[in-house]
Amino acid sequence: MNNRMKLEILSKSDNESFARVVVSAFAAKLDPTIEEITDIKTAVSEAVTNSIIHGYNRDDEVIHITCEIDKNTVIIEVIDYGVGIKDVGKAMEPLFTSKPEMERSGMGFTVMESFMDEVEVKSIPGVETRVKMKK
Ligand code: ATP
Ligand code: MG
Repeated sequence: MNNRMKLEILSKSDNESFARVVVSAFAAKLDPTIEEITDIKTAVSEAVTNSIIHGYNRDDEVIHITCEIDKNTVIIEVIDYGVGIKDVGKAMEPLFTSKPEMERSGMGFTVMESFMDEVEVKSIPGVETRVKMKK
């Protein structure tokens, strides 16, 4: 089966739960296990939270989420147009956080990588950050 959707939300923390529900409902067409759905929800939450907290740090900016089903794979992309990431390799290291004072643990990308089969991060500082995940 092939299908796709695109969601636009504002960078409000309330919308993080909305985004994960929408993405998991869309992915439900693939007949995933409960565990797979939980993994997808968790990964989407982490990516959207990062866009809200790090990308924008304000609640009135746009986040795009695109979802594509290609045969048995779901491809999810979370995109923000915020500050961006200068060193993606470093940002993705376990325990790296630029906001230790906010009690961030620096585990978001590590969680995404462990729960999804593939995670690819592309960022142009000051332009956009794209987190593409496959399962
Ligand atoms: P945690 O997710 O455990 O609460 P964290 O958000 O700091 O902590 P990660 O999600 O792994 O940890 O992200 C690591 C770092 O990458 C962040 O501290 C931030 O500096 C940077 N980062 C992640 N996503 C974005 C984004 N969308 N825009 C700008 N910077 C980001
Ligand atoms: Mg995070």
